Amino acid sequence: MERTLVLLKPDAVQRRLVGRIIARFEDAGLDIPRIETVTATAEQVRSHYPDDEEYLRSMGEKTVRAYAEAGKDCSAAFGTNDPVGIAQRIREQLVEYLTSGPMIKMLLCGPEAVTTVRRLIGATLPADADPDSIRGAFSNDSPIIAGQEGRAVMNLVHASGTPEEAESEIALWFPGL
Ligand code: UDP
Ligand code: MG
Repeated sequence: MERTLVLLKPDAVQRRLVGRIIARFEDAGLDIPRIETVTATAEQVRSHYPDDEEYLRSMGEKTVRAYAEAGKDCSAAFGTNDPVGIAQRIREQLVEYLTSGPMIKMLLCGPEAVTTVRRLIGATLPADADPDSIRGAFSNDSPIIAGQEGRAVMNLVHASGTPEEAESEIALWFPGL
């Protein structure tokens, strides 16, 4: 059995989507041995999204690609076209986003739970997410509008990207488990 960490972000709680999102994980046969409400601190969010160049590059490239596909330049919204610099800005916007209200933190378990849950939530940017996925079905935020408004893309849910990420995130959100 593999473990993974899911956060239902403040927009999921505010939009009363918690029950429907949890139902999707239960329908897929995942166990939820721990689930709690949490209001995150800025420090927790900064630990959750590491200040690591490789991670930041992969995150910033999502915005670079979306802007390029829309024929737009990132520098107006982010002051740079460098994916790492863009992601540093987004990382601070994520602090605002994830501390803006209560979240639900959950430990999920099952065979290949990390991959299964990532498939259920869909791609990071709602427009890229499979329409049957949680993000594709329930969110439609755009990185262009988010960039203009100086905030992170609101996409309802976080799930660990790899088993290693899962273990460090579980240690952060459920210390001792
Ligand atoms: N994000 C964003 N713009 C981007 C990429 C990411 O605002 O171009 C936000 C979004 O809320 C995302 C979070 O940053 O969920 C973390 O990004 P990551 O690349 O780790 O995506 P995830 O693992 O959440 O799919
Ligand atoms: Mg991630």
